[in-house]
Amino acid sequence: MILADQYVRFKREARAFCREVIEPRATMHDLTGPFVKENVQALAERGWLGIPWPKELGGMGLDYQSYAMAVEEVSRVCASTGLTMAAHTSLGTYPIYKFGSTEQKEKYIPRLARGAYLGVFGLTEPNAGSDAAGIESTARKTEQGYVINGSKRFITSASYAGTVIVAASLDRKLGRKGITCFIVETATPGFKVASVEHKLGLKGSDTAELVFEDMLVPLNSVLGKEYDGYRIFMETLDGGRISIGAFCLGMAQCALDTMITWFNDREMTQLQSKALADVAVQVEAARLLVYNAAQIKDTGVRVDKECAFAKLFASETAMWACGVAIDAIGPLAITDDMPVARAYRDAKLGEIGEGTSEVMRMIIAKDVLKEAKESC
Ligand SMILES: Cc1cc2nc3c(=O)[nH]c(=O)nc-3n(C[C@H](O)[C@H](O)[C@H](O)COP(=O)(O)OP(=O)(O)OC[C@H]3O[C@@H](n4cnc5c(N)ncnc54)[C@H](O)[C@@H]3O)c2cc1C
Repeated sequence: MILADQYVRFKREARAFCREVIEPRATMHDLTGPFVKENVQALAERGWLGIPWPKELGGMGLDYQSYAMAVEEVSRVCASTGLTMAAHTSLGTYPIYKFGSTEQKEKYIPRLARGAYLGVFGLTEPNAGSDAAGIESTARKTEQGYVINGSKRFITSASYAGTVIVAASLDRKLGRKGITCFIVETATPGFKVASVEHKLGLKGSDTAELVFEDMLVPLNSVLGKEYDGYRIFMETLDGGRISIGAFCLGMAQCALDTMITWFNDREMTQLQSKALADVAVQVEAARLLVYNAAQIKDTGVRVDKECAFAKLFASETAMWACGVAIDAIGPLAITDDMPVARAYRDAKLGEIGEGTSEVMRMIIAKDVLKEAKESC
């Protein structure tokens, strides 16, 4: 695709940085599993933990398209680092930037942007994932603050967080209308990281379970307004899906990179040449959808359908492209020497996190019908 000069330059520099600084540690993280701490530190030093936030708040003041490109390039060489960056920015920081008070923004965003700690998003619970309106964590208002009880599951980077956006219900009888979001500092008594998951892939990304036991948070820790939590996390997830699309695009590109390197000085059969061409086309189509969603977001318009397009297509492309690359190259492609073997395992999360493929299809079908009705 043709990109404006500023993006061509940004991407070229991003690629060079990722190859030089992020890629060398990727295999080690995959094989031995420690959290990608040094890579996160390198992102922080480059300003990449706050790409889309204004400079006054410590960000880089760049647009969402640049941010999506950065996540793509990081994930192309190390998906664990890409997911950590995407979750921190789109889930852990965006809601504070978009819905926080001036006081909350000035307190938290500069720290998050410079990487003083990671920001995370606690929505999913043991009995509430796709049906996020069914969360069971509760918040009770008192004169001293809100007392939160409950638990959260599969929370990215939770063991390394300084703040967590916690969704809890002030009144469970109200269903989704009872939900409120809170900014919780992880040093708060009653906050506990209960366990860490061992996963199929993304070995360098932390995924943990959180427990809140009579956790008292101040009255001014409400994000936005009381009872407005459902709208806040739904809008947060929309933007998050662009970064998950970019993360998947990076892994799909990794499959294509591996094929290009492998077939560069080898004779290809007709089937191998078809496989290479098909992967190249699908990766480009995924890129168009991801960049399109990012560009629309940059205009300030809400983009649920386009975000769902980007996430659904890029995640299924990443899984498919890694499989095709492995089939075309042969058994060597599943050894630890080949980055596509790692990407094949890492890519599965793309079809699950921030809404499964089934949920994306439900959003798309609903939006398409609504648009058709409105245009009649
Ligand atoms: C590595 C990892 C990192 C994550 N990070 C975070 C995070 O930082 N913060 C956070 O809050 N959550 C996080 N999650 C949770 C993730 O968003 C949920 O796993 C996801 O939304 C699916 O929810 P669930 O696991 O409860 O599955 P379920 O909702 O139980 O779904 C199980 C299956 O049923 C299908 N299904 C469910 N409902 C329907 C329906 N109505 N129609 C058709 N099919 C349906 C789903 O598509 C899926 O295939 C993470 C998950 C993983 C694996």
